[in-house]
Amino acid sequence: MRPVIFFVGIGMVILGPLVTLSAFSSCLGTILSGNVFACVTNIVYFVLGGIIFVAGVITAIIGVFVPDPAPTPSPASHMGSVAAQSGVQVICKKCGHAFDSGLFFCPSCGQRPG
Ligand SMILES: [Zn+2]
Repeated sequence: MRPVIFFVGIGMVILGPLVTLSAFSSCLGTILSGNVFACVTNIVYFVLGGIIFVAGVITAIIGVFVPDPAPTPSPASHMGSVAAQSGVQVICKKCGHAFDSGLFFCPSCGQRPG
């Protein structure tokens, strides 16, 4: 799942009906004021809102089903030691406190690992 694509899609799903709704309220006001034919211009916004909504649904679905890109192995990451990667627990040599090796120092005593 790609959250960015998903949330863009959700945003469009919300935006589409808002465009249609604003066009509808504008259209309703026009009809109530007796000028029915002036409402025709709002049809564009009805269609636009519908297109945005459908496109948003499709975009959100794409965001859900498109897998995350596989981490591209770059030469730099392979050169780095395992200790440099986040999520690996190391034991502080000074105080024995276990902490994430992604940190540059022990959160307990400030001792740098290694
Ligand atoms: Zn420590």
